[in-house]
Amino acid sequence: MTTTDHGGGVWSVAVPIPDNPLGHTLVHVVDTDRGPVLIDAGWDDPASWDALTAGLAALGTRVADVHGVVVTHHHPDHHGLSGRVREASGAWIALHPADTAVVRRTRTAPPTSWLRYLADKLAAAGAPDAHTAPLRQAAATGRGGDLPGLRPALPDRDIVPGELLDLPGRRLRAVWTPGHTPGHVCLHLEEEHPAGLPGGGRLFSGDHLLPGITPHIGLYEDPEDTTVTDPLGDYLDSLERIGRLGVAEVLPAHQHAFAGAAARVRELLAHHESRLAALHALLTTPLTPWELAERMEWNRPWDEIPYGSRTIAVAEAEAHLRHLVKRGRAEPVPGAGPVAYRAA
Ligand SMILES: [Zn+2]
Ligand SMILES: [Zn+2]
Repeated sequence: MTTTDHGGGVWSVAVPIPDNPLGHTLVHVVDTDRGPVLIDAGWDDPASWDALTAGLAALGTRVADVHGVVVTHHHPDHHGLSGRVREASGAWIALHPADTAVVRRTRTAPPTSWLRYLADKLAAAGAPDAHTAPLRQAAATGRGGDLPGLRPALPDRDIVPGELLDLPGRRLRAVWTPGHTPGHVCLHLEEEHPAGLPGGGRLFSGDHLLPGITPHIGLYEDPEDTTVTDPLGDYLDSLERIGRLGVAEVLPAHQHAFAGAAARVRELLAHHESRLAALHALLTTPLTPWELAERMEWNRPWDEIPYGSRTIAVAEAEAHLRHLVKRGRAEPVPGAGPVAYRAA
């Protein structure tokens, strides 16, 4: 079944993500006095659009009636269809300004400059030429224009952390949870649980808190920003804040709804602590982020990790390194070439 009734005027529609092991995005539909408001919209693909519109029809409404789209973060499996929903309905789109900045950059920068930036970053992280060559080649030949999500919709409204969103008849408060992206937000529905589950309301958690997977925490990747950000530190802080909300149920954007947010938060915090400890132990010899990624534990041996996933893995290794440096547990080794880190 593609739609689920979560009670109390909240439903979800499973919108497929083409060729992706995650399977689908759960687009949540919140009934308001002015019509349905969507939390996320799904991937921009004809089959996904059909699933979304069919799902809304099954709930007895229409995409033309949508009053607003609240987007948890800028990733294409969440923000992809927002623009098309707005065209069909005149709905507003709301996003946190930090992710709006990413959207603006994506819309204006030519894809070739992004490919060059990525190749330079990977080289600085110690990636071998064999890994960066395809990116440089694509940049030189002007390929890469067909990457998904290159023309994401500009939102109409800012999501303001701590404030209620404009949902007539409902209480939905934005909680800023940076980490997975700089402007990721969770949305707290501050209403009693419809089935009487104990706790304070329900949380639309986007990709921040999922029942069975850990979200990717990489770098924020802003070519114009030279400050050294700490996305993993941001993520761990955001997790703790969400754990303290004491919500009765979590409605994530992938997998399935679950209770026990605080326990899941503790699990994720412990996961990252043990990962940080394991990485710290590896840094008895200085390693570049690439070398560290090769030695880290993944869901399969490094040799079997496909090209694109290696790029993501290196960003994840670097995010952990940055956080160790921030905690004073690792330091860069002075020298030429890609920067290596050792335990401090
Ligand atoms: Zn995401
Ligand atoms: Zn996602």
